[in-house]
Amino acid sequence: MLRQKIKYKQMKNSIKTINIISIAIIVAIVSFFSSCNNSRKIHQISIIPRPERISIWDGNFELSSKTRILTESGSVEMQKLGKYLAKIINNATAFNIRVSDISEAKSIDNVIILSSNFSDEKLGDEGYKLQVDPTKITIQSNEPAGVFYGIQSLLQLVPNKILCKKIDGQEIDWEIPCLYIYDKPQYSYRGMHLDVSRHFFPKEFIKKFIDLMAMYKMNVFHWHLTDDNGWRIEIKKYPELTDICAWRVDREDQPWKNREQAKPGEKATYGGFYTQEEIKEIVEYARERNIEIIPEIEMPGHSSEIFAAFPELSCRGKKLEVQTGSLWPNIDVFCAGNEKTFEFLENVLSEVAELFPSDYIHIGGDETDKTRWKSCKKCQKRIKDEGLKDEEELQSYFIKRIEKFLDSKDKKLIGWDEILEGGLAPEATVMSWHGVDGGIEAAQQGHDVIMTPTSHCYFDYYQADPDFQPLAIGGFTTLKKVYSFNPTPPVLNDEEKKHILGAQGNIWTEYISTPEHAEYMSVPRMIALSEVVWTPKKRQNWNSFIKRLNDHYQRLEILDVNYCEGSYKIDITSKTDTAGKVSVCLESEIYNPEIHYTIDGSDPDINSPLYSKDFEIDKETIIKAGFFKDGNLIEKISEKSISVHKGLGKNLKVLRKL
Ligand SMILES: [Zn+2]
Repeated sequence: MLRQKIKYKQMKNSIKTINIISIAIIVAIVSFFSSCNNSRKIHQISIIPRPERISIWDGNFELSSKTRILTESGSVEMQKLGKYLAKIINNATAFNIRVSDISEAKSIDNVIILSSNFSDEKLGDEGYKLQVDPTKITIQSNEPAGVFYGIQSLLQLVPNKILCKKIDGQEIDWEIPCLYIYDKPQYSYRGMHLDVSRHFFPKEFIKKFIDLMAMYKMNVFHWHLTDDNGWRIEIKKYPELTDICAWRVDREDQPWKNREQAKPGEKATYGGFYTQEEIKEIVEYARERNIEIIPEIEMPGHSSEIFAAFPELSCRGKKLEVQTGSLWPNIDVFCAGNEKTFEFLENVLSEVAELFPSDYIHIGGDETDKTRWKSCKKCQKRIKDEGLKDEEELQSYFIKRIEKFLDSKDKKLIGWDEILEGGLAPEATVMSWHGVDGGIEAAQQGHDVIMTPTSHCYFDYYQADPDFQPLAIGGFTTLKKVYSFNPTPPVLNDEEKKHILGAQGNIWTEYISTPEHAEYMSVPRMIALSEVVWTPKKRQNWNSFIKRLNDHYQRLEILDVNYCEGSYKIDITSKTDTAGKVSVCLESEIYNPEIHYTIDGSDPDINSPLYSKDFEIDKETIIKAGFFKDGNLIEKISEKSISVHKGLGKNLKVLRKL
């Protein structure tokens, strides 16, 4: 085995000697990724999200069976993180690396030191410093969260197989390049949402989703636990919620929009829920990974599943079946004039508040149809008694009353941007989904905001050509578009900008029924969003991102994540220089694409010119280009007609007859 290893190293050395050009290219790449100009390393650094500062030095730290993890003296949190890191390393390498308190260490040679007693105000609660020297690695932060993120970056520096659950017998040099990283997030809220009402997802998948989020330094999981299609959280006071409201008649064989509603007497067999014990387990699992879980209990709308067991809480009082699919508009909502509604919600929220340590509870508040309120005597009486102007103000009354209750439980309220209608509750945080305008309005009113506009953050939308994608709800949000997102609208002044806490990707699951499909829609768009919310804007770079992302695909495969490669569509663009020369650029979202093209109107094939750089045209030309893999065209040929005329690129003077 040892001999093989030496041989492997010799082979690597001979490659180094003969392939100087390749090394030069690689060094150039490393320089590109590094803010340090004296880099001479050959390592490809592919950390996502891209760190704020990174300097790469000569040499390596080699992880071996003799490596130990030392934790800050007396710190239980560091011991836990040490064990978390050791478990990952030991699984993949079988090294049996041990974790011990630094006060017990006999030497500090060949060690990984974890410490959160650093004092650097600029690093905040989640920033970290990671230094890799030939004999030791140190991760320092102000708080344990920073060390956790230092570990995530460290793991991305080790060969990909570090993520294997079991070694596969291959000889691997577990080398880590010597470097220095100083890193912290741009936003405190880096979220992912998952709707488990439209389709239910098992506990194991929730944990896998949390692991993926943690790997990319996302820190809030917004758990959409209730909606018209099923209630998913055990509430001890109301067992009917999980006995009845969590189950619907199974129409999984029919398209979501056209599903037949339940017939009388049909058995409800599709559904599921999380017990309180499971929720506690998941909350703890997330906490260990620096992820806060914000539960969402929808009200006053998106709540019709409740009326399958508690019809008296709706304006009509009619018993409903849990919806099998889409039913829109959904006019049965909580009766805002009935005291029993608030009694019920307060009892539910009391249990929810106990289960989730987060400071926040999300109460939905979106898309409440006010039809029933207009004709309901109780609701109209409430409007009169409270001196409200209309049903919009009745919604505002509803939300403000719930906020007051949450306040009594030391919880803060978050709602979708409709909670602005009729006047915002005093301390509410707004989740802006109808574009960014609701968020702008809320920030200008001094409220905290989380940006999650449909345009950039709805990951249930198509991410590539719908003709080649699984059926989605609609929309079109490509990886590149997600990457281009700026959560802080420039229109805000400095004070207002402070209210933008961050951004969140949303996975609504009307059209997503399996964990594999949820992964496909989340990844890699979540990875792009992670860089949007973590990395300083000036360090964000699309070309660098897709190159690093390409390295991550192997990691995702090891983790058995069903990712989407992005869009194969070729973007054909042209630019004209001052001399009037027109050059054509062909781009894809995929790193290092094989693009073949034609300029004579014919369809390109594998023998057509291979695109390597921009090319010039001197007359009106039809450009056709295709993405090829293993000799085959992937998806469709892209086509564009580009005009060329003498005026292009020139300063034109408009002549006008007087
Ligand atoms: Zn009513």
